[in-house]
Amino acid sequence: MHELARVHRCQLRHEAELVRSALEAFGVPAWVRGNGRPDGHAEVFVRGGDAESAREILAGDHSAGLEATPEAHLPPAPDELCPRCGSESVERLKRRLRRDTQRCRACAHEWR
Ligand SMILES: [Zn+2]
Repeated sequence: MHELARVHRCQLRHEAELVRSALEAFGVPAWVRGNGRPDGHAEVFVRGGDAESAREILAGDHSAGLEATPEAHLPPAPDELCPRCGSESVERLKRRLRRDTQRCRACAHEWR
């Protein structure tokens, strides 16, 4: 029996299922408990040993698995178009503080 750690809690069962499939896309087995509204919440659990990587996946680089998730439940997409020249060649510069900066490889414009 594994000890499970909760890594996500939301109102919608559907959302929890998307989080679960995103985690599994990254190779982290996950389980959903609860039916969401109107009966309560839905929660996503992973094995205790996977909790840290699961939280990193959910907090950070959600490039692959979460792309199919409805926008309303997601933080902004990491890969945006450059607001200056429209290039898709955008890199994300990691910052210690809250927000990452994005930079266009084509014109070197930086923004948040
Ligand atoms: Zn640009």
